Amino acid sequence: MAHASKPLAGKVALVTGGSRGIGAAVARRLAAEGTDVALTYASSKGPAEALAKEIAATGVRAAAFAADQGDPAAAPGLVRAVLDRFGRLDILVNNAGVFVGWPVGDPAADGAALERLSSVNVAGVAALVRAAAPFLPEGGRIVTIGSCMAERFPFPGAADYCASKAAVAAYTRGWARDLGARGITVNTVQPGPIETDMNPDGTDFAKTLKATIALGRYGRTEEVAAAVAFLAGPEASYVTGSALTVDGGFNA
Ligand code: NDP
Repeated sequence: MAHASKPLAGKVALVTGGSRGIGAAVARRLAAEGTDVALTYASSKGPAEALAKEIAATGVRAAAFAADQGDPAAAPGLVRAVLDRFGRLDILVNNAGVFVGWPVGDPAADGAALERLSSVNVAGVAALVRAAAPFLPEGGRIVTIGSCMAERFPFPGAADYCASKAAVAAYTRGWARDLGARGITVNTVQPGPIETDMNPDGTDFAKTLKATIALGRYGRTEEVAAAVAFLAGPEASYVTGSALTVDGGFNA
């Protein structure tokens, strides 16, 4: 039975891209709430396995799986591996994502990298939800890390990324309709600028960004993880098809 301080005890969460950044904070936070945690990585085997070890030392089960989200065909095998290892899957957190960008028509744009962005940020997410959905129980949760850039980004050079995050927001509303009858909720968390390898604080661009954030600072990965924990938890039982923005007022 769930203990008050461990509201998610006994549940199993799969966090994609859990090796570092926001995904690692989400993995730690869900484990602190009592879930067993499966996390994936593309290339960071060492950090992913170290995090799984760190989490396992807190008393829940944890394991790291290599799974390239840019290869949608890999999704069913990942779900099968998690079910084989943990016996169930309650919470799917689609966190893995990449950023590349050039202004449209820029001759320097890397077309292959833009195609890959679409595969990782959109097709890979959709493939994993398709593969996982049949196994999620009543009360199951899907939380996708979108971006406040799905709604607005007042700078050039990011159309493909913005579109990828708008796509997962649209998928989320559709999946909420598809899975509502089974008591499964589906939501996005839309972070603003969060200090990670993808978006390091301290650059000239970071300074420009900060001038547009109501709170005047970058967010911390833990501040995004708190929103994911809310949506994954019992108190969000009537929240579905929605986007929870955690952007310090970037889009205000
Ligand atoms: P990081 O670049 O710091 O970490 C990315 C994570 O995703 C890593 O664990 C990485 O694994 C994994 N990953 C990347 N590509 C793949 C792939 N093909 N298959 C599996 N895993 C992959 O990014 P953040 O933590 O900053 O971003 C996490 C999510 O949050 C992304 O979806 C991003 O778009 C979103 N976001 C980030 C914001 C920010 O300001 N940081 C703002 C809004 C949204 P590996 O270590 O193996 O490469």
